[in-house]
Amino acid sequence: MKEQVWLQELIDHLHSKHASNFEGEIATYIPELSKADPAHFGAAFVTSNGSIVEAGTADVCFTIQSISKPLTYGMALEAFGEDEVAKYVGVEPSGDAFNSIELEKLSNRPFNPMVNAGAITVTAMLYQKYGDNTFHEIMSRFSAAAGRQLEFDEDVYRSESRTGHRNRAIAYLLLNFGMVPDQVEAALDIYFKQCSILVNCRDLATIAATLSNLGKNPVTQTEVFDIDRVKDMLSIMFTCGMYDYSGQWAYRVGVPAKSGVSGGVMSVVNRQLGIATYSPLLDSKGNSCRGIRLCTDLAQELGLHVFDCM
Ligand code: GLU
Repeated sequence: MKEQVWLQELIDHLHSKHASNFEGEIATYIPELSKADPAHFGAAFVTSNGSIVEAGTADVCFTIQSISKPLTYGMALEAFGEDEVAKYVGVEPSGDAFNSIELEKLSNRPFNPMVNAGAITVTAMLYQKYGDNTFHEIMSRFSAAAGRQLEFDEDVYRSESRTGHRNRAIAYLLLNFGMVPDQVEAALDIYFKQCSILVNCRDLATIAATLSNLGKNPVTQTEVFDIDRVKDMLSIMFTCGMYDYSGQWAYRVGVPAKSGVSGGVMSVVNRQLGIATYSPLLDSKGNSCRGIRLCTDLAQELGLHVFDCM
């Protein structure tokens, strides 16, 4: 109880500190995303023993976008094992933009599962395993991690499917190199849908808390992700989760995290806390400006950095 009051005060303080900051731009390359409200700013923390605190517009839903990528990566690792997945996707930071059309030399693998090329490959692998049930499997797993039945945003899905020429180019390049099977259009369709799954800050913080709690949702007590795979998911988030800011994030904040182009940021404090923020105003790297600021302050205030000596 005492912990809850103290956490609520902390989240309220950090939220009000950054709510009046309107720096950044809303993403427009997926036309439907440009409708987001720049005033929306929410945050939620869920502890590994299931306490929840929220501030601001924590119940406003937004599309999960790239934050889906570590979760589908975990599902692929569970389905195929590390060695098989590693034949098709690497684990090195790319230093290129998330939508880069670059692949690793010689192996032709995408650099990692956090760039679009890697995430599309992972979804194509899941399609090989689950066929037409793939999106249902993804939705069920994300819902179990969030602790409630999630839905997806049909308009964002259609908007991205209609304009996702670059992702199509990436998928066909992967097909050219034999890194994905023939059914690329089916895999792309599932990828666009998975990016359009709707979450709010509470959902996202619960998903983060599930990862922090070794794969078990601390609110519902459901085992969601294989304990052995959570380490891999968090490792890739730590090195590649925040676009071209991943190095600086690891340096300044020091916890595994993943952001998405709609403005969500999900951070995981191992064995302790799941953190989510939502604000659609993005910096030049594609990360939520208010999200970065709130998490940086929080990490300093609580000494969350993995190498912190506090
Ligand atoms: N659906 C987006 C895309 O593939 C995800 C990008 C992101 O959130 O980084 O372009």
